[in-house]
Amino acid sequence: MNFIQTRGCESNKPTSVTFSEAILSPIASFGGLYVPETLPFLGEEFLIKHLNSNYKELAFDMLSRFEIDIDEKIIKEALALYNNFDDKNNPVPVKKVKENLFISELYHGPTRAFKDMALQPFGVVLSSIAQAKNENYLILAATSGDTGPAALETFKNRANVKVVCLYPDGGTSDVQRLQMVTENATNLKVIGIHGVFDDAQNALKILLASDEFKNSLKEHNTSLSAANSVNFGRIIFQIIYHIHSYLELVRQNAITIGEKVYLNVPSGNFGNALGGYYANKMGLPVEKIIISSNENNVLTKLIKTGKYDLRNSSVVSTTSPAMDILKSSNVERILFDMFGYSRTKELMDDLEVNNVYELTSVELKTLQECFDADFCSGDEGKKYIRETFVNNGYLMDPHTATCMKSYETCSNPAIKTIAYSTAEWTKFSPVIANALTGEIDAQDIDALKSISNETSLEIPPMIKELFTKKTVHNEIINKENISKEILKFLA
Ligand SMILES: *Cc1c(COP(=O)(O)O)cnc(C)c1O
Repeated sequence: MNFIQTRGCESNKPTSVTFSEAILSPIASFGGLYVPETLPFLGEEFLIKHLNSNYKELAFDMLSRFEIDIDEKIIKEALALYNNFDDKNNPVPVKKVKENLFISELYHGPTRAFKDMALQPFGVVLSSIAQAKNENYLILAATSGDTGPAALETFKNRANVKVVCLYPDGGTSDVQRLQMVTENATNLKVIGIHGVFDDAQNALKILLASDEFKNSLKEHNTSLSAANSVNFGRIIFQIIYHIHSYLELVRQNAITIGEKVYLNVPSGNFGNALGGYYANKMGLPVEKIIISSNENNVLTKLIKTGKYDLRNSSVVSTTSPAMDILKSSNVERILFDMFGYSRTKELMDDLEVNNVYELTSVELKTLQECFDADFCSGDEGKKYIRETFVNNGYLMDPHTATCMKSYETCSNPAIKTIAYSTAEWTKFSPVIANALTGEIDAQDIDALKSISNETSLEIPPMIKELFTKKTVHNEIINKENISKEILKFLA
């Protein structure tokens, strides 16, 4: 299967590229993204076939239907990384929390957040394509917390790929920072920036657009790629767990095959939700996809009113920082799928030039047939964390907690919901400790201990050991010096 551009290409009509090409250079013409030309239809037959399959068997069959230009051997090697999750036969446990509400836990990988679901196998795939072409790639990542650790973990010691990860000094949790600065491999570089996340991200954007920088990279025989969810190589692995979670409900006798469910997704860049949308198009019975947000609620407004409006808005810091996003990149892939490439280009051009676009009422209706949305404040989220623990014995992180509000406001209680949990409690422990016990401003290590005491949950070994591991990346620099540091690392 080939991939085409969401905004068309220079000759107007989209032209197609292979999966490998779309992975290596994920930005398409006019600043658009790559999407599959057609999606394989799986339908009920596929669900019945995989009722007793384990996660890897299901994933392998689904990926085969995409007919991408990656060897079976590489795909198997990539999927074998799910063996490093807590339970290798079921990397994504789905737990019943209350009548009609099930939580699919996407955080059982090495860095304890859902980024591992896609980045773990993606690392093998990207490195193998780079090796086959005998080319070297540099992945630049600006991170506010979860993407950085997951990208470093997957590319560590992989051939033909180097990673430079920029984080705002003081802008991540202790656990997230330690996950990065203790990651020891010669192909990895982690740099703290004086400033906030936007400073790190803007510095990166300037570099990515600079010809001088690209030429310097060429001198080091290196090209740039990207590991964020604009890369379809990540999205393809995010379709699988939606199908898996549905099958888990069937296995638990909660639903019968064919019964529709809600997918409720804590959303930022919309990669997770897009995976659910594609799964639905491929035949998964979905009533609606519910988009949960925090106070950065552009997606709620889009789905409720048809207006994507960034005028007079700036990102606010919340208790669910992985969702502190205003430009949600993967929405573009939905626009393309629903309204085609020329309308997508028009809307995205509006957003770039005027900071706003507006759907017609007919378009809005189409969008609302698939999606509904609500947002949840940090205080409401903490209330849900506390109540769900006290009443149902289930502990969730602040990102997952955003789903609890929309579960109440958007869903018909007669229909089952699969909500997605995107991070383990260990990654955002100060907020959770505050929700459970009222303690404020605890350091991660103290918050982890008090939650563990309060809940009898064990701190997993990969989190515990961070606090005694040696720091290998010590640089904290001014953003003016980023390019110099990167070139020094490549030399
Ligand atoms: C990345 C992330 C999200 C947002 O996911 P998208 O696919 O970008 O919408 C939500 N929660 C956590 C914990 C994350 O790390």
